[in-house]
Amino acid sequence: MNAIKTLTGDITHLVMDAIVNAANASLLGGGGVDGAIHRAGGPAILEACRKIRQEVYPNGLPSGEAVVTTGGNLPTRMVIHTAGPIYHSDPDPAGNLQKCYRRCLELAHQHGARRIAFPGISTGVYGFPKEEAARIAVATIREFFTQFPEAGMTVTLVAFSAADEQILQHHLR
Ligand code: ADP
Repeated sequence: MNAIKTLTGDITHLVMDAIVNAANASLLGGGGVDGAIHRAGGPAILEACRKIRQEVYPNGLPSGEAVVTTGGNLPTRMVIHTAGPIYHSDPDPAGNLQKCYRRCLELAHQHGARRIAFPGISTGVYGFPKEEAARIAVATIREFFTQFPEAGMTVTLVAFSAADEQILQHHLR
């Protein structure tokens, strides 16, 4: 059985198989949830990101793509870093946000992750409207579950405030 849950809190505290990082193209850290993940996860995550930049994405991670690293010191086995679209400059913000969720779910599934947590990708400094982002997140996860009914995944959508969790809950009804 697959399931979607919501929760309000700090994603770095969660015991999961995989947590998603709303990273940026550089993969070398930033503010918001990205900064929190690197601070709490320690240098092993940054080291793995540097290696991916050198070996796979010398020009940076394109919007909508995702990569996997160790969870470092976090209580999660792995971190899936995705580059969300910058709402006001990306050529296709909705399509690329959908791609982010899809790629992260595919990678989680390939790596055998069953408990996976997402922050609100692009809904911070990247300016994606929270209502539309929540709708895309829920629709994309549900579509993935329809295609992989045997995945046995529990996806937790992590809000950073009670108001943000209300928005997610609304779209789950
Ligand atoms: P982006 O650049 O993709 O917009 P941000 O990190 O600025 O990424 O914000 C993405 C979302 O993550 C926002 O809704 C923000 O409130 C939330 N957020 C920030 N820190 C944390 C955290 N430690 N745990 C969970 N969510 C967080």
